[in-house]
Amino acid sequence: MSNDSLFNSPNAVSDVAVIGAGIIGVACALRLARQGRRVVVIDQQEPGRGASFGNAGHLATEQVFPIADLSILKRLPAMLMDPMGPLRLDWKYMPRALPWFARLLLNLRPAPFQRTVAGIRALNESSLGAWHRLLETIDRPGLLKEDGSLLVFERADSQQAIEALQARMRQQQVPVDFWRAKAVRDAAPQLSEQLRGGLFFPRTGHFLDPFQVVGELVHAAKSSGVQFLKQRVEGGQLNESGVSLITDQGRVSSRHVLVACGAHSAKLTAALTGKKVPLDTERGYHLMLPHEHERLPFAVTSLERKFIMTPMADGLRLAGTVEFAGLDCPPTMERAWQLHRLSKGLFKRDLSAEAATPWMGFRPSLPDSLPIIDRVCDGRVLLAFGHQHLGLTQAAVTAEMIAQMASPLTGTQPHSLPATAPYRLDRF
Ligand SMILES: Cc1cc2nc3c(=O)[nH]c(=O)nc-3n(C[C@H](O)[C@H](O)[C@H](O)COP(=O)(O)OP(=O)(O)OC[C@H]3O[C@@H](n4cnc5c(N)ncnc54)[C@H](O)[C@@H]3O)c2cc1C
Repeated sequence: MSNDSLFNSPNAVSDVAVIGAGIIGVACALRLARQGRRVVVIDQQEPGRGASFGNAGHLATEQVFPIADLSILKRLPAMLMDPMGPLRLDWKYMPRALPWFARLLLNLRPAPFQRTVAGIRALNESSLGAWHRLLETIDRPGLLKEDGSLLVFERADSQQAIEALQARMRQQQVPVDFWRAKAVRDAAPQLSEQLRGGLFFPRTGHFLDPFQVVGELVHAAKSSGVQFLKQRVEGGQLNESGVSLITDQGRVSSRHVLVACGAHSAKLTAALTGKKVPLDTERGYHLMLPHEHERLPFAVTSLERKFIMTPMADGLRLAGTVEFAGLDCPPTMERAWQLHRLSKGLFKRDLSAEAATPWMGFRPSLPDSLPIIDRVCDGRVLLAFGHQHLGLTQAAVTAEMIAQMASPLTGTQPHSLPATAPYRLDRF
């Protein structure tokens, strides 16, 4: 039987059960439904309430390098000693994180590092086009502002690092312009005059409200017949007719399952495929400043202070930081407030934190900084998780890849997609 006919079996409750209604699961569900699949999406909470709720909204196609490279090793001890620094490790979590860190270190060697860069780059290069296509299908192109983003620096001794980064980015064909201080001032006049310049990335952009993006995709998916169930998936088994999922409210049967539960995907992947994946979470924070509209024309990141500021519909969002503390430890919300302290001096007039709201989310991260996008177990299990810092950026292209995997025989993609080999499950 062809995979296509498997999907169209009349006896199954649904063709595909998508576990997880974050940006990845919802984008995939919509694409699958538009291919004529009967899709059910299962999430324990309202769609878009996971990491996809509070990310920085940056369509970060320029970020082709993983966040860790060999140079981080020298700075690591100092970084870890600062509880409010850009990287925090909860020492109680260290024993559980150790195997993940060991794999991360191995991936910093030149050959695997280059593989990672190539893998990220392939997804990022297809991301902008895929997002345009996805937003056009739901008639909401305005959700994405394709107006570039800027990485600023303020110390004289950062000039060399900025120039080196520009050269590395150019080597990877990332469109990038060096801006002197005057160009920064002209484009973003509210920023401090102390800034010395920056790198401008024209082929990037930002979303005005990441949660709304999920909401709009959900709305479109429902109009295309996708059913949403508010249930927690506890486990599941493969069987002859597909898959049977065990939820907190009973069973859900489907011909196929797509695991797209972000940082929570490891347990279900193991239950369904028998494979243990080294998935951990890099917890990140944001602080939303509702009184700070129109301070910036586009997303601005600070090289030295290591956080991003994105202008959104509801104010200015400060976001960033990486914290290793697992899925169960309560948030250290002080880290969100720290983002406001970090912003001091970056603007001519400091930002107001009046009525600001802090948030923490779980980035789903694998130690080679690449997601898993795959189709395994005779096509019964599809996987789309582990997009770490780039899940919003890569959601639309991931959805196209999953749709292509779901119906490989139709081959209807009018545009080329990244090769799937770098994202396979069996690399672990
Ligand atoms: C501070 C911060 C800033 C970021 N900034 C950016 C950015 O600017 N650009 C960018 O591209 N990316 C960014 N990211 C990363 C991006 O947000 C994530 O990669 C992306 O949201 C992951 O989406 P997801 O759908 O895989 O996971 P999620 O959004 O976490 O969704 C997973 C869903 O699965 C559900 N789920 C989990 N387990 C179960 C279960 N057992 N049963 C049922 N449902 C379940 C959850 O409830 C959740 O809704 C940022 C992340 C953070 C934390």
